[in-house]
Amino acid sequence: MSAAATPPGNFPLRSRTGTASWHLSKRAVDLTQEHIARLTELQAVMMMAEANWGSTTQMPCVHCGTVDVHYWSKEQLRWKCKCCGKRFSATSGTGLADHKLPLKKIFQIALSWSNGASGMPALQLRRDWGVAYNTVFTLLHRFREGLVRSFNVGMLAGTHEMDGMDVNGRRYREKRNKPLGGKAAAGSGPKIPEFLLKPKDGEEVVGPPTPPKWGKAAKQPIDRRLIIAMVQRGESAGLGSAATRIAISKTESRVSVTTMATRHASAESVMMTDEDPSYAAFGALFAQHETINHSVGYSKPGGISNNLAESLNSRLRRGAEGIYLNQSGKYTHDYSVEQAWRSDYRRTPTGKRFLSLLRYACAAGMSMWWRGFFQGKHRDHELLLEGNQPAKGRGKRKGWKPRPPR
Ligand SMILES: [Zn+2]
Repeated sequence: MSAAATPPGNFPLRSRTGTASWHLSKRAVDLTQEHIARLTELQAVMMMAEANWGSTTQMPCVHCGTVDVHYWSKEQLRWKCKCCGKRFSATSGTGLADHKLPLKKIFQIALSWSNGASGMPALQLRRDWGVAYNTVFTLLHRFREGLVRSFNVGMLAGTHEMDGMDVNGRRYREKRNKPLGGKAAAGSGPKIPEFLLKPKDGEEVVGPPTPPKWGKAAKQPIDRRLIIAMVQRGESAGLGSAATRIAISKTESRVSVTTMATRHASAESVMMTDEDPSYAAFGALFAQHETINHSVGYSKPGGISNNLAESLNSRLRRGAEGIYLNQSGKYTHDYSVEQAWRSDYRRTPTGKRFLSLLRYACAAGMSMWWRGFFQGKHRDHELLLEGNQPAKGRGKRKGWKPRPPR
C-alpha cells in the first residue's frame, strides 16, 4: 500500500526489504548442529585450520613463522614445522589456544551462540551442552575478545551515522513513587497513578506521563556507561547498515565523540548525528556534517537521518537488558562489540557467520584477558574512550569463604 492510499490516522506501512523472506529462504541456513555432530575430530581440526590459515596444507609455523607444507601427524592431529621442528595445532597461537573442551564441542557451543539474534546467555549454553558454567563463560569471552581486537577496528568509508546510548546503572529517583505491591492497607500505601488503572467503559485512556528529561549535568549512577556507535550506511537502499564500530565512554562529551569519530572516520566521511552540542566540531573535521532534530522529525529530505544508529541502539538495549542482564561496566565494551558483530552479520548464512566468529578469534592471536581467568588472572582495566581505566571485578574477593552454618 502506498503512503497516499493509507487511511488517515494510520502510519504508512513500512516498505518491505525482504528480511523475512531472506531468513526463511534455504540459503540462510547452510550449517546446522547436525552437520557439526557428524564431524570427526579430524574434520573439526581441518575446519579450524581452514578458518585460521585459509588452508589445510600450507600454513605459517606458529613458532618461527615459516610458511610451508609442514609435516602432518595423524595421531596427534598436529603439524611439525619443517624449519624449527616444533609442533603446533590448528588453535596454537589463537584465541582458542589451550582449550580443554574437544574442538567439536567448542564448535557446537559457538554455532548455538552465533545463531542467537541478540546473543545467548552462558547459563543457557551450559544447560544445553552439559559443560561447566566457567568453561562456557570464558569461551564466550574469548570470542568477544577476538571481536574486540579484530572486528571492532579500522576505518569506515562513505556516510556514517553516529549516536550515543546510555546503559547500565539506574537513577533510583526514576523508580520513586511507583507502587511496589498491593500489600498496604487502603489509604495508607502508595497511591497508584491514574495511568496504571483500568479505564471505565467509555472513559478515555490516560497514557503514562512523559518521564522527566535528565540533563547531562544531572548526577549519573557510578556504573552508568555511554555506548557510542558509528554505523556505515550500506550501498543498497533499504538493506540497512554495512559496518559498525563501538566505543564506551563515561559521558557524551566533545572529547569522547571526537576521539571516536577520528578513530574510525576519515576527512572524506559524511557524518549524520543528532543535534547534541558535543558533535559541534564535526563540521570542521569531516567533509559534511548533517544533523537531525528528533523532536521535530525522524528524517529530513535528502536522506538525512540517524535511524540506522538508532536501530543499532535498540539491538544494544535488547542485548543488555534482555539477554545478558546486569552486564558490568568493565565488560560493557565487550558485550556491545558482540552486538555490533551480530548486527553486521544479520543477513549472513549460519555457516559463514560461524566461520567469521572463528576467524576473528584466530586473527586476534592468543587471549590476553581470558587465559587463567579462573585462576584469578583478570583484565585489570576497563576499555574507555577517555583512556583505559583501572577496574576491579565484581566477583568475590580472593580468599572469600561462605559463612559457616549456625
Ligand atoms: Zn617453525
